[in-house]
Parts: sequence; C-alpha cells; structure tokens
Amino acid sequence: MKITRIAAYQIDLPLHEGSYKWSGGKSVDVFDSTVIRIETDEGVVGHGEVCPLGPFYLPAYAAGVRAGIAELGPLLLGKDPIQIGKLNNFMDKAMKGHSYVKSGIDMASWDILGQVAGLPVCELLGGRYGDDFVLYRAISQQSPAEMAKNVEGYRNEGYRRFQLKVGGNPDEDIERIKAVSRVLEPGDKLIADANTGWLMHEAARVVRAVKDIDVYIEQPCESYDECLTIRRKTDHPFVMDEHINGMAVLLKAHADRAADVVNIKISKFGGLTRARQARDLCVSLGIAMTIEDSWGGDIVTAAIAHLAHSTPTENLFTSTDFNSYVTVSNADGAPQRKNGRMAASTEAGLGVRPRFDLLGDPKVDTR
Ligand code: MG
Repeated sequence: MKITRIAAYQIDLPLHEGSYKWSGGKSVDVFDSTVIRIETDEGVVGHGEVCPLGPFYLPAYAAGVRAGIAELGPLLLGKDPIQIGKLNNFMDKAMKGHSYVKSGIDMASWDILGQVAGLPVCELLGGRYGDDFVLYRAISQQSPAEMAKNVEGYRNEGYRRFQLKVGGNPDEDIERIKAVSRVLEPGDKLIADANTGWLMHEAARVVRAVKDIDVYIEQPCESYDECLTIRRKTDHPFVMDEHINGMAVLLKAHADRAADVVNIKISKFGGLTRARQARDLCVSLGIAMTIEDSWGGDIVTAAIAHLAHSTPTENLFTSTDFNSYVTVSNADGAPQRKNGRMAASTEAGLGVRPRFDLLGDPKVDTR
C-alpha cells in the first residue's frame, strides 16, 4: 500500500464554557485544530487530528502542525502507511523533533491499519480491558467558590475525578483546593494541576498548607528537577505531565521515583505508536497513567479512547473526553461520555468519519 495524498484541514473548536483558563493567566477561547487525511493507492483512507493547547503550553502551535505537514508530506508520498514503525522511523530521520507534527500522520496510519485488518485500533494496541474506562474533568481556573460549584455540577454529570487548574496565586490556590475538597464525596479523586505555574517556594507552601487533604499534586513547577524537589517535600501522590515526552525521561522518573502517575499525551510523544510504547513501558514499571492529548475534538478523543481502553485498568489512573468540552463536532462516530466513563469504538480503525462539510478546503494538500 502506498500513500497517495496527505491533506490537512483547519477547524475552530469553541468551548461550551466560553474559555479554558489555567496557570499563569493562560487561557484559550477557541481551539485551533488540524484534521489530517491520508489517502492510499488501495482506496483506504485514514484520519488523525492534532490540537495544541494554544501556543504557550507545550512547544507546539496550531499553524505549526500545518506548516510541518506541508514540509513532511511530500516526502511521505509512496510510503506504506501500514508499516507504521518504518514510517515513524522515516519521519524522525526526515524531520528532527516536532513530535506534534507527526502525531496526526501516525494516528491516520493506525486508522488505515485498523481498517485493513478489520479491527478497532484498541484491539491492535493490545486488547480491550473491561466495558469502558474512567474519565476526569478539568476544572478551569476561577474563584475557589466557582470551581467548587463546577465540580458539583460535573459530578452530577457522572464524573468522579476532578483536575483543578491551579498554578496561580498560591494563597488562592490553597483556597481552591480546600473549597473543592469540601464538596467531594467518598470515591472522588482530586488532582491539583499547577501546569508548571508555581515557583518552588510557592509550591512548598501549597503542599504544606493542604497536607491533610487527599489531593494529588500535578506538575507544580517548570523543570523536572524542581518538581522532583517538591515531590520529596510532600507525601501527596505526585503526577508529572509537561516534561514527560519520551522514554528517556520516563526511565529517569522511574529511577528517581519522581512520580506515581504520568500523563501520556499522544501528540507530546508523536502519535499513537510512541504513546503506546510509553504506555507499555509504564505498565511494565508499575506506573499509573492519565491517557490523553494536549487537546482536540472527536478524532483526538477517539484515538485517546483506543489507547486508554487498551491499557490495563489498574494502570489507567484516568483519561479524557475532549469532545464534550467543545461546541463543534468534527467527526461522526466518536465515543461519547456516559456517566463519567467512555468506551472505544468497535468499528474497524479509529471508527470516525470526519465532517468534511465543516472542514472546508484543505490548508495543505500534497499529492
Ligand atoms: Mg496536566
């Protein structure tokens, strides 16, 4: 099989809540997402999606996805999308870094492989565990009272895991964690995600002030070493996210006992192939994971679901349903949250059909 066309479409994804706010005053009102389409000489077509969390979260930006695909696309014509290991190897040699550019191409290749095999991608990623898997809800940064109210609202929709966006003023963040902890019920799990937003003295104060609260502390500071220092000051369960982007740092984190949970974001690793490699390493090492991406619509949500659903239940701390945060659906067939849980599609491939009526003309079209 040979790739005959790679196209990239742009679509805006506004948020039901109007905006999403996190550490350091960062916020996004409308996500800029890219849908990738790969066509082949045998008529099989696959799709992927990449959606950075604005240009200031990770070293990734939305127009960069399209620029990178314009650069890489011509080199991939004639390559076999089913030989995904070789395809990734080729992409890494053709373009150094820029894992987020490669993510949608890799995702679309898994979609093609699944269709050719007649199997859902989760079966190819190792097999489905249970009927469904657990989701978290990210609670946008607001006043302590508003965040507590939102947690109650989302619990009524079925969520039991809440990731608070902190990393702002530490005194306010302490109040945010306390206010939300008061409305939790047995079985709920609370994560305070600072998204690198605290300096070390601020993080040290926060973890001490919430010492008696059952809360996970996620990515308090910018660097790995700063996070490790805070990790060693606290007995809270500890999550690392932003700088977990490859096997070397995962092995280092394991050797340092730096985290109890790590976040595997698909585009941070460069696609399902590398994210799956990281997932399997974490399973072997006994590390729990949040399986997700930086952001996305229906296609990213479908890809997340296939990776999450094929992760052993005991290792899956939580996952996410980004398609429920946004007002626009960019594909039919994507999984939908039910009572705070979700299941991967049982259709072959990713199980999604992009809404080309909304996507318009491609921004990049290589054939
Ligand atoms: Mg995080």
